Amino acid sequence: MTATTSATHESDYLVIGGGIAGLMFALEASAAGSVTVLTKAASGEANTAYAQGGIASVWSVDDSFESHVEDTLRAGAGLCNRRAVEAIVRDGPEAVRELIALGTRFTRVEEGGEDEYDLGREGGHSHRRVLHAQDLTGREIMRALGEAAAARRNIRVLENKVAVNLLLENDSRADGARCWGAYVLDRASGAVDRFVARATLLATGGAGKVYLYTTNPDIASGDGVAIGYRAGVPVANMEFIQFHPTCLYHPAAKSFLISEALRGEGAILRLPDGTPFMKSYHPDAELAPRDIVARAIDSEMKRHGLDYVLLDISHRPADFVRRRFPNILNRCLNFGYDLTRAPIPVVPAAHYMCGGLMTDLEGRTALAQLYAAGETAMTGLHGANRLASNSLLEAAVMGRRAAAAARTDIMSGGERRAPAFAGWDPGRAMQSDERVLITQSWDEIRRLMWNYVGIVRSDLRLARAMRRLRLIKHEVNGYYWEHLIDSDLIELRNLVEVAELVVRSAMARKESRGLHYTIDYPQTDDANWLRDTVLARDEPVAENA
Ligand SMILES: Cc1cc2nc3c(=O)[nH]c(=O)nc-3n(C[C@H](O)[C@H](O)[C@H](O)COP(=O)(O)OP(=O)(O)OC[C@H]3O[C@@H](n4cnc5c(N)ncnc54)[C@H](O)[C@@H]3O)c2cc1C
Repeated sequence: MTATTSATHESDYLVIGGGIAGLMFALEASAAGSVTVLTKAASGEANTAYAQGGIASVWSVDDSFESHVEDTLRAGAGLCNRRAVEAIVRDGPEAVRELIALGTRFTRVEEGGEDEYDLGREGGHSHRRVLHAQDLTGREIMRALGEAAAARRNIRVLENKVAVNLLLENDSRADGARCWGAYVLDRASGAVDRFVARATLLATGGAGKVYLYTTNPDIASGDGVAIGYRAGVPVANMEFIQFHPTCLYHPAAKSFLISEALRGEGAILRLPDGTPFMKSYHPDAELAPRDIVARAIDSEMKRHGLDYVLLDISHRPADFVRRRFPNILNRCLNFGYDLTRAPIPVVPAAHYMCGGLMTDLEGRTALAQLYAAGETAMTGLHGANRLASNSLLEAAVMGRRAAAAARTDIMSGGERRAPAFAGWDPGRAMQSDERVLITQSWDEIRRLMWNYVGIVRSDLRLARAMRRLRLIKHEVNGYYWEHLIDSDLIELRNLVEVAELVVRSAMARKESRGLHYTIDYPQTDDANWLRDTVLARDEPVAENA
């Protein structure tokens, strides 16, 4: 692969990421101008496509905005921004109606009226308010939004295009830096082109790939956070990573999530010798809150040096398991495990990034003409812990809000023109002939993050992680500037950046709160830590109020 040519492509709006946040933005913005949407792999490959449970929104007459707001604040353990919670919750029904208008077919109540959808109830929600499309909600949303985008003349979706860095006019925040799009690698040709736009959205999803085990697909390497941070956008609350307690442990299964519903139906967590252990952690045993179950599994794995624990539902009648969990049963059978006969090996896995690029309630970042939405952004909705199914809600609402803000900003910007940006200059960079350097660093980062910066943390482990990450970062940056870039190298550079942000944030927070648990400061300390952890480039750790 070579990176020698550098063409320029122009549109009014550039959307980096084609999940729910990016596509909602694109559909809204397309009424006001031309939109280019970039996806770094096939267009369907996004965290959105894997969402099972659904999207939370006040829908039934028994429910209320106040109740959804209170549930969200409770989950967030004191760190939610109430204004953000209220705004996003209140916009929820309208965003859901828009998804329906765009063709999403949520599961309806049997023989119900036009507006009657089956509402799921999930942990932490005091009402039924989760709209879903069976247990494949994300896939259905992606289908509908993808088709709607394809039908708009003003929207171009380009696959296998990897955003590398932003096009910046003045690179100092104090000088009024401005974003005019991005340098983008074409994976097939290796060319790095300039995509110029008057408004750019970062909607690149999460960063599950920072950890060895994750429920996220391969695209989730935190690119947007790294790209935005490098451009000077402050990042907040990166220590709050949500882990799902049970993912199938199998080298080929990668990220197959085993639903909590199994434990709901009586599945028991056991050590490899068959001993159950959850009762010693919580009176509700397997039905304890998600974070407690994840922490208990992690603790048993660390104590006994295990690679996995077992999840056992084989005591329930085989017919029941077949009827209730056909999808999970079949997937496990493909990997040689029969749920109806024996326990299956499981591990917790990184699932959701609560922190991200700081935005206001219109999706604006601190950098003019740059917006962020979805899992990449930090609006203040989740605080220290995400309430189930609030992430699709946030992405849908904020995608639309950011588009409205971008449209207003473009109008008020008048005839402002982009400066001439230099083409991508590979300098004396060479073709890489040592791919092992990339794969080794990649594995090291993911393993050390898993072992040292996982579900349970300590000062000692965090300090070790930081020392190693700094070394890897130094090596990766050296390699980056000496070699022609490709998508693996771009992702690796972003991965190490994001890993470092997680560790710095975790080191800064000297307490346990929500998803951040450290054995050195096991208590929540409201007197000192009721605030976000904000990191800005070239500045020491600073907190906002
Ligand atoms: C297994 C699983 C189950 C989940 N279940 C639920 C649920 O039931 N309810 C809920 O609310 N949430 C759920 N979530 C979380 C939710 O799915 C995500 O938070 C949400 O879909 C994120 O949407 P997004 O638009 O921000 O990003 P994504 O949907 O991840 O889209 C990211 C896009 O960015 C592109 N991209 C990334 N990097 C680059 C780059 N450098 N250049 C160009 N393009 C790039 C990708 O190609 C992709 O198109 C689940 C997540 C997982 C993994």
